[in-house]
Amino acid sequence: MKLLLSSAILTGKLAAKLSRVCGYGGSSFPGLLARLFCPGALKKLAAQVRKGIIVVTGTNGKTTTVNMITGVLQEAGFKTISNREGANMISGITTSFIMNSIASGKIDCDYAVIEVDEASIPEVLDNLSPRLVVLTNFFQDQLDRYWELGKVIGIIRDSLLGQSQTTLVLNADDPLVAQFHRTTCLPVYYFGLAADKNTGKRDPTAREARLCPFCGSLLVYNYCHYGQLGAYSCPDCGFKRPKPQVEAMEAGEEGVYSLTYPGSMVPSIAALEMQTQGLHNVYNALAAFSVSILLGVNLQTILGGLRKYRPAIGRMENFRHGNNQVYLNLVKNPTGFNQGLETLCEDRGAGDVLIVLNDNFADSRDISWIWDVNFEMLAARQKHLQCFICSGLRGEEVALRLKYAGIPTGKIVANASMNQAVRAVLGGNRGSTYIFSTYTALRPVHKIIESLVEKGDKSDQGMPSVS
Ligand SMILES: [Zn+2]
Repeated sequence: MKLLLSSAILTGKLAAKLSRVCGYGGSSFPGLLARLFCPGALKKLAAQVRKGIIVVTGTNGKTTTVNMITGVLQEAGFKTISNREGANMISGITTSFIMNSIASGKIDCDYAVIEVDEASIPEVLDNLSPRLVVLTNFFQDQLDRYWELGKVIGIIRDSLLGQSQTTLVLNADDPLVAQFHRTTCLPVYYFGLAADKNTGKRDPTAREARLCPFCGSLLVYNYCHYGQLGAYSCPDCGFKRPKPQVEAMEAGEEGVYSLTYPGSMVPSIAALEMQTQGLHNVYNALAAFSVSILLGVNLQTILGGLRKYRPAIGRMENFRHGNNQVYLNLVKNPTGFNQGLETLCEDRGAGDVLIVLNDNFADSRDISWIWDVNFEMLAARQKHLQCFICSGLRGEEVALRLKYAGIPTGKIVANASMNQAVRAVLGGNRGSTYIFSTYTALRPVHKIIESLVEKGDKSDQGMPSVS
């Protein structure tokens, strides 16, 4: 068996080297090959992780949450491995373990922090037996790549039922996530975001999770931060947003949140400072904070690690162009796109917008999801915005969508050439520029921007995952 594992590791490492030499970045292939040689390879490697495995899953925020947790644990001096490259299905995860092991089959690490694609959860949990499982949120994703939301949630719940040693770290603000306490009976730790001065201004109608998961009655929402994330309660069975152990409140200063968390004796307060924008990143930081507290990391180390965190490519990544800021954001589903648009709308200095939409397999072949994106909020602010450039393989459809959203056609430009489109939007020079790109356009767009601007902050965290 040991020989089998060794040959699987050597084959995997060789495959990784070959694909690098041949110019393929693919990180799933080595794991796939290794699993053919030794189907038990992942289980054997995972069993050697000394202090435990942390699994992060959910629709949005997986890559960022994994990178934040990994940053904190490394700051605390732990040897940590993760699938930063974002290959988040069983083969890609196997690759990460293989690349961190030596030929004899030994792996030397304290923690493994692993992002897992929702659909791969059953097989991955079976192999990893994680100490903690983080559920970020559940939104309807690209319909042709994923199953219906209810089915995804059911599959994750069923696979958790076999994990008696696991503690769940749950987003209290998402009823689809918070229900896991009752449906799995596992120990849970909640994180959430309290109401703030903007909550009342946002639309309290949830797109998903309108019904109570337990009795089917209409849930009542006091407020929503975005999507269905907010304060909900069921008038019939009493299911409601649980009081989170870790809760953030906006502290007034931009980018600073006041956190309450269970201190040694009484609830304590800490100031969370971040260099990333957007409420979704506050949720990611809350998840990372909760995990780190549960693992016993010292408070100052956690806060320091989170403060240092820089977004990966295309996660509201920031560049400077002359006197202006440029933000690049990966978009792949309506909720994530709406979050990016909200950040744009809250930025009083925003000037120009570029949307690059491709429809290759990794982007989703079906682009009908753009009709669920709330571009109408851009229309409401269009007086302050100068120009909307649409590019990529399906740039014209975005242009059409913007027209239907109520943006004057005189402000909409479709340009099939990504190069010209990026140059045009940066050439506008009328305040901050927001660029939204689907997955397969992200690298090329990133390259073009980099050739034209100085970097606002350094990012070396590789490509985010496709899901
Ligand atoms: Zn109910």
